[in-house]
Amino acid sequence: MIPKVKGKEIDMGNVAIYPGSFDPITYGHIDIIERALQIFDKVIVAIADNEEKRPLFTVEERLEIVKEVFEDNPNVIVDSFKGLLVDYVAKTNVKVSLRGLRATSDFEYEFHMASMNRSLDTHLDTLFMMTSKDYFFVSSRTIKEVARLGGAVEGLVPDLVVRRLKEKFKLPVTKKKQIGWDD
Ligand code: ADP
Repeated sequence: MIPKVKGKEIDMGNVAIYPGSFDPITYGHIDIIERALQIFDKVIVAIADNEEKRPLFTVEERLEIVKEVFEDNPNVIVDSFKGLLVDYVAKTNVKVSLRGLRATSDFEYEFHMASMNRSLDTHLDTLFMMTSKDYFFVSSRTIKEVARLGGAVEGLVPDLVVRRLKEKFKLPVTKKKQIGWDD
């Protein structure tokens, strides 16, 4: 059986879903996706459309950003979902949900979520990947906090995210970046 995500047929043999807010996507997330692609043929980045979390970027903006980041990689499928992950996954038949772990502080929440998802759908298992040493301190939340105050987040998020953050917070961009922006 070849299920579809947004009309695209995908071979379900070796696909993982990576759900999250990605508000915005960071190199920590990207590192997890790239490493997962060493194990899985395809990764579906599933952006949670969850207004309760009061995201900085709308789901449309987050979709646009992640699609742009992976525009050259056909093995990364970008989609959004509303509601329960298990309901979204049921439509795709994916069996593995991917999550990243940065510190023991992530563990309790992730353990509860993974257990809850498994209780809701026994076919969905959660695979955890440890963060890389370069990104253990990177979270979307701290990126937003630092960027809002005008701190440098270059090297922790892709350049297009740096530009989007500056736009959001109405911060000046350097001349060099402004030129690239208009390209
Ligand atoms: P959520 O709001 O669902 O936690 P996030 O976008 O914050 O969504 O994170 C999605 C997943 O990516 C989570 O499993 C989170 O632990 C993981 N993650 C976030 N930042 C990093 C990082 N720097 N290194 C590894 N995993 C990360």
